[in-house]
Amino acid sequence: MFFRRLTGEEDMKTKLKSVLVCIIIAFFIQGSISGESREAKVKKWTVIENDKKVLYMTVDGILVHESDPAKQPQPQVITPGTSGTARKAGTAPSDAIVLFDGTAESFKNWTDTKGNRSKWKLVDGAMESVKKAGMIQSKQKFGSCQLHVEWACPVNVKGKDQGRGNSGVFLMGTYEVQVLDSYNNTTYPDGQAGAIYGRGKPLVNACRKPGQWQSYDIIFHRPTFDKNGKVDRRATFTVLHNGVLIHDHYTLDGGTGWRGPHAISEYVPHADRLPIKLQDHGNPVRFRNIWVRELND
Ligand code: MG
Repeated sequence: MFFRRLTGEEDMKTKLKSVLVCIIIAFFIQGSISGESREAKVKKWTVIENDKKVLYMTVDGILVHESDPAKQPQPQVITPGTSGTARKAGTAPSDAIVLFDGTAESFKNWTDTKGNRSKWKLVDGAMESVKKAGMIQSKQKFGSCQLHVEWACPVNVKGKDQGRGNSGVFLMGTYEVQVLDSYNNTTYPDGQAGAIYGRGKPLVNACRKPGQWQSYDIIFHRPTFDKNGKVDRRATFTVLHNGVLIHDHYTLDGGTGWRGPHAISEYVPHADRLPIKLQDHGNPVRFRNIWVRELND
C-alpha cells in the first residue's frame, strides 16, 4: 500500500516540526514589523544667525522643518473670502484681483472685444449678456491663474440643448469652460455645463436649477510655445463646479473653438497673457463675483 499509518513516534516528530516552523515564521514577522516602527533618531539644536535664534532639526541625519526665514520664508498671510451660495454672492480673498464685485466701478474693468464700452447690462449687481453685444473681456490680461466666477442661467427657461442658457468662460480669451443650463437639459457631454468645450466632459453634472447662482473655481495653467510656435507644454485645467471637482488636472490637447473645425484644431500660438472673456451666445446669462489670482508657470 502507498500510504501507511504513522507510528506514534513519527507523528510526534511531525507535530514538533510544524510548531518549529510556526515559531520561525512568527519571529520573522515580528522582526519585520518592529523594523518598520523603530524609533527615528531625532536631533535638535539652536544656532544664532543674524541675531536670531534658528532651530535646526534632523531625523536620521536628514534636515527637516527649516525655520530660518531667510532660507524658508513664511507663506504670505491673507484673509480668505467667503463662498457664494445659490442666493448670496461670495467675496474674494484679500490677495485676489477683483474683476467684478457687482459695482458700476468694477464693471469698468470690462470692455467689448475692440476695447470699447460693452453693451452688456449691469443688473442687480450682475453683468448680464446681451444678444449680439458680443463677448465681454477683462481689461487686464492673464496667463496661468486661479479664476473664480459665479453665474446664473435665466430663470425663465427658453430653448433646449445648446440654446438654453449658453455662455462661456474663456481663459486667455481662447479656451472655453462651457456655461450652459444643463439642469434637465441634455446635450452632447463635451458641450454641457462645465465641459472644456468640445474636448473634455465634466466628471459629473453638478448643475443647479436655472435662476440659481452657481460657481466655477478654475485652476488654469497656460500652454507654452517654442520658438517655432509649436506647443511645448499643454494647458491644464482643474475645475470645481459648485464646489464639486469636475476636471482633475485635465490636459487640453488643442483649441476649443466650435469652428476649428469643431474643437479638433491644434494649438495656435499666442501671447503669454490675454484677457478673460465671457461669451454672448444670445441668452441673458448673468455673472457676478469674479476674481483672479495669478499663478506662477
Ligand atoms: Mg458657450
